[in-house]
Amino acid sequence: SLSNRLKKVASYLPENANFADIGSDHAYLAAYVCQNDPNAKAIAGEVNVGPLNSAKDTINEYGLENQIEVRLGDGLEVIRPGEVNQIVIAGMGGSLITSILNKQKNISLEVDRMILQPNVDAKELREWLDDQNYMLIMEEIIEEQGHIYEILVAEKCNSHQSPYSDLEKEKQLYFGPYLLQDRNDAFMKKWGGERDKLTRVVEQMKQARQMDRDKIDQFINELDWMQE
Ligand code: SAM
Repeated sequence: SLSNRLKKVASYLPENANFADIGSDHAYLAAYVCQNDPNAKAIAGEVNVGPLNSAKDTINEYGLENQIEVRLGDGLEVIRPGEVNQIVIAGMGGSLITSILNKQKNISLEVDRMILQPNVDAKELREWLDDQNYMLIMEEIIEEQGHIYEILVAEKCNSHQSPYSDLEKEKQLYFGPYLLQDRNDAFMKKWGGERDKLTRVVEQMKQARQMDRDKIDQFINELDWMQE
């Protein structure tokens, strides 16, 4: 059955979703959503032929040819303007997700909702969304099989208030404004681990008499936040 991570991602799609899953790999997410909602439609985008063929196999196996279309191509290149209402990009680094969204802004910024699951560097993605005035409306952090995953949900038009405050913005972009408020177990575990890693990095930098004072200061500042 589908991972909790992808089930969580799926839970943020509306009923009758009409979405693109970019980097769909086996298209498990699209298959799950379309099996549970006969009105849902998906485009599974893949840049690599191997995963693309896996996606085709899944769709054939479940008989979902009428609901899911598979397309080969780089990122949002495979989507035409107005074709989908939601975009999912999951299981990649935050900077790759950001670059995919940034390459075709005529597609990414026009959808109603994006559901993004960066494995690392969520901060970069939050910064990009904020720069584009595309509103972050929800976040989740979960642990599954020893890995910690973040899920970011953002919307084009909405009545939500900005989750950022002037004074705390830098910190909120770093930890996630909603996650920082919640501080659930997965959050505490992630940042405890990051603190330990960064402590070692700073020690090594100091020992190596690395003169990049700015970098060290930045890390020490981040460590203060994590300690908090
Ligand atoms: N989304 C699935 C998930 O969360 O389980 C699969 C994640 S898998 C680690 C990343 C997938 O993204 C791979 O199948 C890879 O081929 C695909 N991918 C990487 N860069 C891509 C791009 N620029 N456009 C489309 N697909 C891409």
